[in-house]
Amino acid sequence: MIIVFFGPPGSGKGTQVQELRKKSKDLFHVSTGELLRQEIASGSDLGHKIQSKIDAGKFITDDLMMQFVADVVRKNTKKDIIFDGFPRTLNQAIAFDALLGVENLKIDIVFDFDVDAQVLMERICGRFICQKCGAVYHEKNRKPKIDGVCDQCGSSHFDKRSDDTAEVLKTRLNIYEEKTLPAKKYYENKGILKRVDASLPSWEITHQISTALTEVGLMKEGE
Ligand code: AMP
Repeated sequence: MIIVFFGPPGSGKGTQVQELRKKSKDLFHVSTGELLRQEIASGSDLGHKIQSKIDAGKFITDDLMMQFVADVVRKNTKKDIIFDGFPRTLNQAIAFDALLGVENLKIDIVFDFDVDAQVLMERICGRFICQKCGAVYHEKNRKPKIDGVCDQCGSSHFDKRSDDTAEVLKTRLNIYEEKTLPAKKYYENKGILKRVDASLPSWEITHQISTALTEVGLMKEGE
């Protein structure tokens, strides 16, 4: 099973991945942003180049992104995978279909996280992340149960992403409109796009996603 979470930065994709993985523990999560941050953390030359793009809110080239994703797909052909933040351009969407086709795989469903820019600004500017396990929190709406301690792994090291600022978000949203919306149209035309109202509270979005997955037979009732 291949699921894609599609939506602008701050639309709650990462949070919903965490929720879905609580229900389907074997679901393998691929976040292209996370793959890129790992490359940056490795200190490589490539990582330095990627860092400057991300800090400016710009996209990494389609060719490079496809190399990262092809590597992950080929190593995990037997797993159920959820892609978060990929594909992000029409070229990536087309190349992704070709890549999956070679492995006899296909995308089952694409969730479109629909939310307006003002909500995104509030979410992004209050967002912080567990350094150890990547769990996502928010200063107002989603605090850890115990102040300063990650609910998932118990770590007390948190971080804010360098690109989670109002200024960089504006660039990211403009690029989203210009480059990512054509990919959304592509999935719409294929009839596999399912809209979720991502301005709703988190538990309601989780419910919408679970219902949709049950409807298309990708999840059993009550899971
Ligand atoms: P994310 O963690 O998904 O918000 O991604 C952080 C940043 O990584 C983005 O703002 C882009 O600069 C870059 N990035 C992540 N995924 C992609 C992708 N599929 N194509 C191009 N750039 C990407």
